[in-house]
Amino acid sequence: MNTQTNTQTLQKRPLMRVLDSQPVTDGDGVRIRRSIAQGGLQSFDPFLLLDEIASDDAADYIGGFPEHPHRGFETVTYMLEGSMLHRDHLGNEGLLVSGGVQWMTAGRGVVHSEMPQQESGRLHGFQIWVNLPAAEKMNPPSYREYRPEQIPLAQLGGGSSARVIAGTLAVGNDAVVGPVKDVSTQPDYFDINLAPGAPLRLPIAGDKRLLLYVYQGGIAVASGGDKRPLSQQQLGVAGAGEVVEIEALENSRLLLLAAKPIGEPVVNWGPFVMNTREEIEQAISDYRSGRLV
Ligand code: MN
Repeated sequence: MNTQTNTQTLQKRPLMRVLDSQPVTDGDGVRIRRSIAQGGLQSFDPFLLLDEIASDDAADYIGGFPEHPHRGFETVTYMLEGSMLHRDHLGNEGLLVSGGVQWMTAGRGVVHSEMPQQESGRLHGFQIWVNLPAAEKMNPPSYREYRPEQIPLAQLGGGSSARVIAGTLAVGNDAVVGPVKDVSTQPDYFDINLAPGAPLRLPIAGDKRLLLYVYQGGIAVASGGDKRPLSQQQLGVAGAGEVVEIEALENSRLLLLAAKPIGEPVVNWGPFVMNTREEIEQAISDYRSGRLV
């Protein structure tokens, strides 16, 4: 089998929509930039939420996220700077440090807290929510935790690089594979450090939703013979095609998120994301009576 791909001949996935992230407060007064969510903002199957926390001011994050429940999806936390302590209803604990990732499958239920472990300094991180198909929503909860050194760094040439959290990043004839595997939406999660210079082409399967979130600098996305800009704290939604071509307008950092849409009805109520209203009512009733977990 010829595994080499000539990315020049593949159709480029254009930037179809640009959405500004919104300042919101969640948990105990934590200030967040939110760019995907149910309700006021839009979700992009299977991505239900994307939050960025970035502050040098402890008042913006010190309250953290005291005990709260989840059912029916996965929460993925990625820290760039600072640390968060995770503790759940079973007494499981995990300390998430700079560069570390926690991929939590809430399944039928988790009650947990996520608390910053610092009283000063910079905290910078992301949380995404990825939906689960109906068949997996009531599975037992599970955790995958990765230390920074378990996340491979792909060298992309020209001073650019990417940390590959999930999925496969194809570089020339080589591929760098992230540690997160066996997720049914087959996510790609790359943290890309893009230097100005030649455009970067990344093949992303055409049947996957593709989102880009710039958290530093600004980029341009090749879009139908044109280039469309995507700036800091904006979310870009890509259209059909097999390869995305991006170019840094200055030293830039961005998240690339891709995954297979689930295509099932989504009914949510805060931290519960199910397929029907009855299932949400069941989740609320289970939580109130202590039977969520
Ligand atoms: Mn949580």
